[in-house]
Amino acid sequence: MPYNEAKLPLAMHSLQYGTTCFTGIRGYYRDKGLLIFRLKDHWQRLVNNVKIAGIPFTLDWDFFQDTIIGLIKLNNPTHDIYIRPFLFAENEALSPRFDGLDYQLAVYVMEMGDYYDTTRGMKLITSTWKKNSNASIPSKAKLGGAYVNAALATTEAHRLGCDDALMMNELNEVVEASVANIAIVYKGEVLMPDIGEEQLEGITRDTIISFLQEENIPFRYGPIDRSLVYTCDELLLLGTASQVIFTYSIDGRVINSENKPGKICQILRDKFKKLIDEGKSPWLTRVDLL
Ligand code: PMP
Repeated sequence: MPYNEAKLPLAMHSLQYGTTCFTGIRGYYRDKGLLIFRLKDHWQRLVNNVKIAGIPFTLDWDFFQDTIIGLIKLNNPTHDIYIRPFLFAENEALSPRFDGLDYQLAVYVMEMGDYYDTTRGMKLITSTWKKNSNASIPSKAKLGGAYVNAALATTEAHRLGCDDALMMNELNEVVEASVANIAIVYKGEVLMPDIGEEQLEGITRDTIISFLQEENIPFRYGPIDRSLVYTCDELLLLGTASQVIFTYSIDGRVINSENKPGKICQILRDKFKKLIDEGKSPWLTRVDLL
């Protein structure tokens, strides 16, 4: 339906309590077609998220894929897009819950270029807000309400004149950025928080891991404390919106004084660009446009 005709009740459960579950997918416009990045993996993550939250909804793969491809054809974009599928409940129910609600899938698309300015490094802070513990709100699930945590951290960063924030868990390990996974380069090795930490199972993170393996760049998973972040050679943020971006400074400590992508960042960006430009990877679903 036309965007302006999509009306929902003010009292709807998912607006009042953030009981949505969503993902964000990039579509790259190339050669009169749209290349959707890792559509099936986004579907799988949504299915897993539904399971984690206990949302009563069965998300069929064919239905999901057809809905998104159909929507792209209807919009016929001529630029890169961001695709936002989400599950929501429009019930006017007062009790906060996931069960007993009537969930539906909605998808919209919008034009999206760079989310951050990619020509310079990010100025970051470590947020004084802790990343919500997995014991309170599961970080693996992209649940709308959980993003209040990210909003608090981002707002704090902006108040201090910075671009974004890193989040620490309750053990004071740096686990992710407000809306991106992280990786650091330390003594020639790439280090990432382990998958069981308070972080989303990021699709960009997973892509980067396979790039590192292809390039035989040493990497490992492990806890990252603040001092490691302060003394690393590169601090990268990884996400669908952010893509692969580098950090200029964190809490006023300069990581990258040249303020241009470091060696590993550049390798990863080049590989990403090549993958999209070539358009042949099994990770890409091509939609031919008019
Ligand atoms: N962590 C959080 C909290 C996020 O919101 C995102 C963006 N979806 C990511 C990490 C990166 O995940 P992905 O690469 O799947 O976009």
